[in-house]
Amino acid sequence: MSKKKDFYEILGVNRDASEDEIKKAYRKLAMKYHPDRNPDGKDAEEKFKEAKEAYEILSDTQKRAAYDEYGHAGIDPQAGFGGGGAGFGNFSDAFGGIFDEIFGNRGGGHGGGHTRAYRGSDLRYNLEITLEQAAQGTETKIRIPTMETCESCHGSGAKAGTEPVTCSTCGGTGQIRLQQGFFSIQQTCHKCHGTGRYVKDPCTNCHGSGRVKKHKTLAVKIPAGVDEGDRIRLTGEGEHGVNGGPAGDLYVQVHLKAHAVFTRDHNDLHCEMPISFTTAALGGEIEIPTLDGAANIKIPPETQTGRAFRLRGKGIRSVRSHTHGDLFCHVVVETPVSLTERQKELLEELEEISQDNHSKHLPRAQTWMDKVKAFFGG
Ligand SMILES: [Zn+2]
Ligand SMILES: [Zn+2]
Repeated sequence: MSKKKDFYEILGVNRDASEDEIKKAYRKLAMKYHPDRNPDGKDAEEKFKEAKEAYEILSDTQKRAAYDEYGHAGIDPQAGFGGGGAGFGNFSDAFGGIFDEIFGNRGGGHGGGHTRAYRGSDLRYNLEITLEQAAQGTETKIRIPTMETCESCHGSGAKAGTEPVTCSTCGGTGQIRLQQGFFSIQQTCHKCHGTGRYVKDPCTNCHGSGRVKKHKTLAVKIPAGVDEGDRIRLTGEGEHGVNGGPAGDLYVQVHLKAHAVFTRDHNDLHCEMPISFTTAALGGEIEIPTLDGAANIKIPPETQTGRAFRLRGKGIRSVRSHTHGDLFCHVVVETPVSLTERQKELLEELEEISQDNHSKHLPRAQTWMDKVKAFFGG
């Protein structure tokens, strides 16, 4: 070290400056010349070191007294500036205290901060399956885009032969603290995006991100009974973590395709069952589909639209309780269309012979007519 400057001069304070004035002066210089704010300034770095050294001495009553009396000779050179030698302790603490306020807790000072590990993001995959697949369970393969660790740089993001360096803006903590009046605000470092490391020479394969987009194929087991919106978690199959953090999970979210015959309500199934009006009137047997194959339903005479036939246990087996839902077949009496002359004749004849007995054959229509009459005050 060459000829030393006067410590008071360095801090720009009078020899009779108070502790507070010294602290303030130092803080000002530290802010101005801090290496993080002057990444390329060799000069600033020197000034910063000088200020640090001066403050070390002048903030310590004993050392300041020795300095006042003997000048630089009064100071043990080992206890002075040195960058982390033994005996640095006390002073370093005082220094660190101020740095906590200004730049956030830097741990071991600039250069030695540890980087933060982040868990990878969870991913969601929307999987469409048929009702039959949902009912019976299925196994399927899905191909998902994923960010994998770059093979060229092994995830560091640095060009072959180089290494990422500790981020100078945040000193490797990934966080910067901004002083605003009395408050300090902590923010994720914009230069390293919170990783604490900065790549000068980016890897050409991944452009410095350390990760590359790839596809992977996964086998997914869909348990029997899954319903719309259910999620199957594949632990660790989400995005890779950052800085050695754990991978996220992959959620396969189930969506059911619309079924031609059935609609699903939890574990019950519903279907519409159109029947002819002669079957509705006279009764008969109807074959209906179920998930386990065809079944027959006996239609009793005088069956009306809206009546539901319940087939117990023909719904879906719950994925959670393993109980079976039911199948409900809802009757719709279909009005015949495209009638031939002969059919029309027969229907007209039917109408003719029923005319005087509407209240007997069509009680619902009759009741309705009575209500309408009452409504109009008839
Ligand atoms: Zn940073
Ligand atoms: Zn790479």
